[in-house]
Amino acid sequence: MKGASLLTLGALFSNCAKAEAAPKGGGPLGLQIYSLGPELSANGLAEGLKRIKESGYSYIELAGYRDGKIGQATMAEFKQLADDAGIEIVSSHLNPPVRDYSKDNFEEIKDFWKKATEDHSVLGLKYMVQPGLPNCNSAEDAQFVGEVFNAAGEITKAAGIQFGYHNHNYEFNKLTPGGTEPISFAIRGFRPAEGQPMPKTVEEIFIESTDPSKVIFELDVYWTVMGGQDPVEWINKYADRIQMLHIKDRLILGDSGMMNFPKIFDAFYSHGHKYFFVEIEDTRSGIQFDRVKASADFLNNSGLVQK
Ligand code: MG
Repeated sequence: MKGASLLTLGALFSNCAKAEAAPKGGGPLGLQIYSLGPELSANGLAEGLKRIKESGYSYIELAGYRDGKIGQATMAEFKQLADDAGIEIVSSHLNPPVRDYSKDNFEEIKDFWKKATEDHSVLGLKYMVQPGLPNCNSAEDAQFVGEVFNAAGEITKAAGIQFGYHNHNYEFNKLTPGGTEPISFAIRGFRPAEGQPMPKTVEEIFIESTDPSKVIFELDVYWTVMGGQDPVEWINKYADRIQMLHIKDRLILGDSGMMNFPKIFDAFYSHGHKYFFVEIEDTRSGIQFDRVKASADFLNNSGLVQK
């Protein structure tokens, strides 16, 4: 998306924010727990999960899976505390231990997903999502990553869990066949050499090289905008593949005015999807719970979230 359209969308959003709350809304809110950083467990995890619920969220996406645990809690302990707080665990973010994927470590990566799937099965969750971009310098690299995603998706699917991939902005770099480095999304007006097709973005290659029955996509709408793209176009173009969202702004939702949340939610719901997770960076601020609560209030007052 060009700069001008971003401004137009921002202006549109500002108008909507001033309007009376729409009659729709009041639906459940999801939170990516990464948003809270160390605050989540500062007074014990049980207390932290209760505070998530009190802040207005009813389901979460985990982060921090390592060695069979989420932070200091075993999977079973985390599940019990979430149940006690009345919070549903819907999804979890996790990355294999390597960033360079090759035929040599394909089995090692598959073993990671097998163990992780076994560990996550205790949680009764629906999704396991990879949020980290493996190194990709050419279209072929990205296609190979797609093959690895398919294998991961097959492993999680056998346990009744859907595998997904979550983007940042680098997925909107373009990759050429036989290339040696990505073409940055920040280069304005890039044109391929005469007679050559426009190279595809990493995200497009991932979507097109993966099996829809094995791999879904969780679009981080803020990072999509930061990658120079319009999230609404992506949600509509890949309506069946983009099944979850990260609802994110520069910090507290709605404060920057740069995110067109009404159009984003409208497009997302029009394709029959449901789950989204609020995410807030700056996790060591010491005021993340306040920001998480303010973002829930923004969504509840906006009337954007369907029941
Ligand atoms: Mg995100």
